[in-house]
Amino acid sequence: MKHKATDTDPEISSALLAWYGRSRRDLPWRGTNDPYRVWVSEIILQQTRVVQGTAYYHRFLERFPTVEALAAASVDEVMKVWEGLGYYSRARNMHAAARTVVHDLGGHFPEDAAGLRRLKGIGPYTAAAIASIAYGEAVPVLDGNVFRVIARLFAIRLPRGSAGDREVTRLTRQLIPADAPGDFNQALMELGALVCTPGDPLCDDCPVRGYCLAYKEGWTRQLPIASAPPKVEKRYFHYLVVTCDKEILVTRRDRRDIWQLLWEFPALEMQKEISPEKVLRLFEKEIPGITGEEAPVISPVIRHQLTHRTILARFYHVHLREWPEALKKEWAKIPLDKMDGLAFSRLITAYMESHPQRFGS
Ligand code: SF4
Repeated sequence: MKHKATDTDPEISSALLAWYGRSRRDLPWRGTNDPYRVWVSEIILQQTRVVQGTAYYHRFLERFPTVEALAAASVDEVMKVWEGLGYYSRARNMHAAARTVVHDLGGHFPEDAAGLRRLKGIGPYTAAAIASIAYGEAVPVLDGNVFRVIARLFAIRLPRGSAGDREVTRLTRQLIPADAPGDFNQALMELGALVCTPGDPLCDDCPVRGYCLAYKEGWTRQLPIASAPPKVEKRYFHYLVVTCDKEILVTRRDRRDIWQLLWEFPALEMQKEISPEKVLRLFEKEIPGITGEEAPVISPVIRHQLTHRTILARFYHVHLREWPEALKKEWAKIPLDKMDGLAFSRLITAYMESHPQRFGS
């Protein structure tokens, strides 16, 4: 049954806004309606915890205080500031969108959600957040927090997905007040983050408990209906870390895969677990003689979790007395003390940080 707009909708909105006024966290991006800052905070906070996101937000704005500064930077500079945050396509898309805003739109962001969605990397959620917070457009946001709150409030028995998202968006649109859409959207997200949490929500502290069907019916633990868990793929990476005369071999990742355009060591990817000896034989074909001098140091398997992938990686350290005459054209030799200037995946930076002696310059 569809929930029609009712007289209680404005009461729910007012109760939420009043609660938000007294209970919201004092976060650095709150209180700004500068579309650039709202955009930076929304992109950084997707899939990122607030504590980690706050540090990146400050760092990003310090380096790129305006959309013009971001557009003028190189993609490598942007990736370097983003390093460790994951989901690197977000950084590349921001850089591309900043260039569109500066070069094609005279430095002005589109002022509504439909226009914002035409920028690279801005989907329905981010467009709605920027349009409502920066420009006061009454357009509902939908993220995991909002879905949970609305699904419980109106006892929606649909999981996330097109039908569930449509219904939750329709109900949120009924609630959103024309005079404070930005605060209302943020209030819903904040309620989901602080009170209407997954598992056991803190209903005793909830400003809309009196209107909540899940609370009334005792369904708070059953709602929202869980979606089927995504399939997790396993990938087996073997990294060849070759050093010689204070230099190291690096290469840039392909555009069509995870960690696009980040740097890494020459790598082999296997379909399944295979023995390090076999991997070394394959590396030998790339650089003849690599196993002939000193025995390579081989790391244990390192497990690295991404959202839909488990990476199982090994590192093979080889030190050469001299570089072979010919190396593959996609490989580059760089001084060890220049590694800091390149952006690597979190897997590789974490490995380098935990084995500094193997990367001493
Ligand atoms: S009463 Fe409980 S379940 Fe309902 S919206 Fe509030 S916190 Fe969520």
